[in-house]
Amino acid sequence: MSKDAKTFPDATMTPDGMLYNGVIFQPIIDKCEGCGRVREFADSRYCSSYPMPTAKWSLGMCNFSTHTRTSTGGAQTKVNPLKASKRAAKGGGR
Ligand code: SF4
Repeated sequence: MSKDAKTFPDATMTPDGMLYNGVIFQPIIDKCEGCGRVREFADSRYCSSYPMPTAKWSLGMCNFSTHTRTSTGGAQTKVNPLKASKRAAKGGGR
């Protein structure tokens, strides 16, 4: 992984914010803390996916975030009762 993987290469600071690829980026907000898309530039932190984190969060939870997953009940696994009884008869734990 290159040194620039966690930064914004060729970005510049402007009075309005960080200019990167022709887009002005605003710093992240508190709700972005812990997100894997946060990158550093010039002692400030910015989102690598969305230039205006405040606006993104104003519509609800950020759908790009890597640290705020909602539970959809996907953790439950389907168990076949016939196979489970055979495993139990064999003394299998799973
Ligand atoms: S992806 Fe969303 S939560 Fe993560 S830094 Fe960007 S705006 Fe913030």
